[in-house]
Amino acid sequence: MTAVSIDGNAYADDLEKEVAADVAALAEKGIRPGLATVIAGDDYPSHTYQRRLEQLALKVGCHYTCEALPADVLEADAIATVGKLDADPRVSGILVLRPLPQQVSEVAVYRALDPTKDIESVHPVNTGLLALGRPRFVPSTPASVFHIVDRFYRDSGRDPKEVLANSLMVFVGRSDNVGKPMVFMALANNATVVSCDVHTHRAGKLYDLTRQADILVSAAGVPGLITGEHVKEGALAIDVGINPVKDPETGRTRLVGDIDFASVSEHAEAVTPVPGGVGPITDVWLLRATVRAAQMAAAAEAARGSMGF
Ligand code: NAD
Repeated sequence: MTAVSIDGNAYADDLEKEVAADVAALAEKGIRPGLATVIAGDDYPSHTYQRRLEQLALKVGCHYTCEALPADVLEADAIATVGKLDADPRVSGILVLRPLPQQVSEVAVYRALDPTKDIESVHPVNTGLLALGRPRFVPSTPASVFHIVDRFYRDSGRDPKEVLANSLMVFVGRSDNVGKPMVFMALANNATVVSCDVHTHRAGKLYDLTRQADILVSAAGVPGLITGEHVKEGALAIDVGINPVKDPETGRTRLVGDIDFASVSEHAEAVTPVPGGVGPITDVWLLRATVRAAQMAAAAEAARGSMGF
């Protein structure tokens, strides 16, 4: 079997058109969705991501603002910055970029977010709703993985709901921002779920589990962790990992996934490449969530108006 290479850029382009159309529809009602990012310190990948989001936000017609804080920012000032964005009517969705400096508690900053603007679903109320299968917002990377599942099966003439309800999904990696939300989403979609982390690997049980997956998602951050022999014939293999590795010959750094694309392609039905798989969809999804936040805010406002207060 030679796998289909899923074109994440093409999926992202289509999604971007939908988002731009939603922004245009809101503009007719006088509403402009706004994305705000909060970034602290000079972490290079975070600043690169922030600039990409700014370009995309402006391209689809959203308002964009970035609060750049110094690396030595006090926790109280970071919380006050979030509070300012909570109160800003131009801001529909807020993204707090990680990592935060060590003197600033992530939990404290997340708690300061207005849950109705918390597009990455990091406020404990939103995390709870997600765990219960009633999400207000879905974090962008897990959402992108499920967008790929949905689109791939629909495009190949299968009902994604039906496929998921009949699938064993195995997740490698269990972080709060990527691995765990995917587990909640898989449960909400009636999949049978196995969640693995580094302990599973150390216990020597990882590959017995990955080999059983109908849909395998790796988000471990370990280059080449999953090779062809770890994948069931005909599986869908999705690679979330983005890992910088230095080429020993050229000395250049390039990005690779957790999945060894060539060997896994010999067994899987479809594989996502890195780069060009999950990553491009993630950026657009965040804008989609910003637009959803603006739509929900407008609906809440209209409901308040109709009740006379
Ligand atoms: P993390 O370090 O917070 O979590 C990694 C998880 O993988 C942990 O649960 C850990 O126990 C598990 N793990 C580590 N080694 C393992 C092994 N050998 N076997 C099984 N499990 C193992 O990382 P994260 O923030 O969840 O990110 C994971 C990867 O996804 C990274 O490469 C990151 O760059 C990438 N990422 C991609 C996107 C995207 O949009 N594509 C977004 C976020 C993160």
